[in-house]
Amino acid sequence: MPATPNTVQNYKKENEEVSRYMTENRSDHPSNFIHDIIEEDLRTKKYNSRVHTRFPPEPNGYLHIGHAKSICLNFGLAARYGGLCNLRFDDTNPAKEDVEYVDSIMADVKWLGFDWDDRLFYASDYFEKLYLYAEQLIMAGKAYVCDLSPDQIREYRGTLTRPGKESPYRSRTPEENLDLFRRMRAGEFEDGSRVLRAKIDMTSPNLNMRDPVLYRILRATHHRTGDRWCIYPMYDYAHPISDAIEKITHSICTCEFEDHRPLYDWSLEALKFESPPQQIEFARLNLSYTVMSKRKLRQLVEQGYVSGWDDPRMPTISGFRRRGYTPEAIRDFCDRIGVAKANSIVDIAMLEHCIREDLNLRAPRVMAVLRPLKVVIDNYPEGRVEYLDAEINPENAEMGTRKVPFSRVVYIEREDFLEDPPKKFFRLSPGREVRLKHAYIIKCDSVVRDEKTGEVAELRCTYDPDTRSGISSEVRKVKGTLHWVSADHAVKVEVRLYDQLFSKENPDEEKEGALFTANLNPNSLERLTSCLAEPGLAGAKPGTRYQFMRHGYFVADPVDSSEGSPVFNRIVSLKDSWAKIQKADGKG
Ligand code: ATP
Ligand code: MG
Repeated sequence: MPATPNTVQNYKKENEEVSRYMTENRSDHPSNFIHDIIEEDLRTKKYNSRVHTRFPPEPNGYLHIGHAKSICLNFGLAARYGGLCNLRFDDTNPAKEDVEYVDSIMADVKWLGFDWDDRLFYASDYFEKLYLYAEQLIMAGKAYVCDLSPDQIREYRGTLTRPGKESPYRSRTPEENLDLFRRMRAGEFEDGSRVLRAKIDMTSPNLNMRDPVLYRILRATHHRTGDRWCIYPMYDYAHPISDAIEKITHSICTCEFEDHRPLYDWSLEALKFESPPQQIEFARLNLSYTVMSKRKLRQLVEQGYVSGWDDPRMPTISGFRRRGYTPEAIRDFCDRIGVAKANSIVDIAMLEHCIREDLNLRAPRVMAVLRPLKVVIDNYPEGRVEYLDAEINPENAEMGTRKVPFSRVVYIEREDFLEDPPKKFFRLSPGREVRLKHAYIIKCDSVVRDEKTGEVAELRCTYDPDTRSGISSEVRKVKGTLHWVSADHAVKVEVRLYDQLFSKENPDEEKEGALFTANLNPNSLERLTSCLAEPGLAGAKPGTRYQFMRHGYFVADPVDSSEGSPVFNRIVSLKDSWAKIQKADGKG
């Protein structure tokens, strides 16, 4: 148990420091290198002064915080320059895609606060056009049907140090290619038996330019086009053309596509698109203590390590939503981390900091005791109840006050009492005094033990009637202030405390063949089922956020709460380690 003076005043002081830090370091719209590119394009009227971006998720999983960064960036650029941003599902891989994901992605983008208006598109809407463009490439002698097996294609491709070898099918005539490609579409050939390839350069130093595959044969039911197609375009082919069809100007993607840019440009040039979009890469967001790849997140869900894509420990938008994070705080976070070319890992403490800062002003303060210890105030009359005035949010006086019932038997936090306290313990111990928040100063006179276990079962205390908060608090000061609830009035609630999902800062590092799941934190969820909260929380609506004094911010779980018996998720604790890191670095 920490012997720090973990009392209300201390958190208040910390919050004030944090606020000051943020005000001093705030720049509302930090500039980034993409702004420079766009501003130059606007100056030279490259796209007739248009800015049109898109967010292109593949519907093969739920969105995560990395996607949030891409969403904020793409929709943000459009807003900043008076342009437009499309939502486009990149649904060219029928095997892994599903409408469940499409629906969740739309809900998540909306929840984040962005709107695509009537510009919702699917790459699959372009299948016919993409097919016709492929015929065009064939007729121009820029694409051919290749009968090599996938293994042979790989072998012929060469390596970074060894040039590739030309496919024996490379010299087929456009007519022969057209005939074969049409028959591919008609379903005459086996899956995987033939592909359509771009005819570029098998000796290019860029492996992506060594006659990349444009189309494959795949008999799979697509979530939108059903069984209409048995050939599907590859992402690298479909993406630039989808961008061009939608008249995108700046096609923003993450850095792993940098080596694909020559192919992006090649496709648009080969098809003679006028003022083709340009691809711009930025560094993907990585967050400490979590993983971001959809494949890995799916694995956590499918193998039952978490309760679902919206498990409050997941870095998904739906997980964050259920956890109680706000869209405002997530947007603020995405703004502050900025946009760069170099990959890095962002400290999760920074995201938590943004959440705290947002909730500090809006969340009502309430008292809830997570691990109750009974306190009987011997000199307080039996049966008497006082309804004490308590401010709802000391940071925001407009929120007003509430009434909190006080009576002879109250509960305090078990860890707020120590029989044999260390020197700097300012909470309760025998013979010592503390203030009960919004109420009176009490003194601990004696301890009642459980006869069998010897454990402290209750405390017998006396109160000083002349010390009621708000009325006479100036009279006498004590060092510790504790939260509490009245035994007769409190409501029993379940509380779920979360810790990081992984115990390693970078769980993706799979050392010596150990899987990333080996880095899962076994203590990432703690369920407390006998917590007591002030009576107002009985009717907490799912999704409502509070600050439980001294414990952090909590939300009534939107899934597991039921009428009259809310379950609370801890959104974030009150300790702000990021503000501390900044201070230690001399930045604050
Ligand atoms: P993952 O690797 O997690 O499966 P992905 O890149 O395959 O992600 P897409 O659905 O293709 O997922 O991504 C949609 C958009 O979001 C793309 O433009 C992609 O570059 C961007 N994006 C994905 N992950 C991140 C991230 N970690 N940081 C920033 N942008 C990202
Ligand atoms: Mg992808």
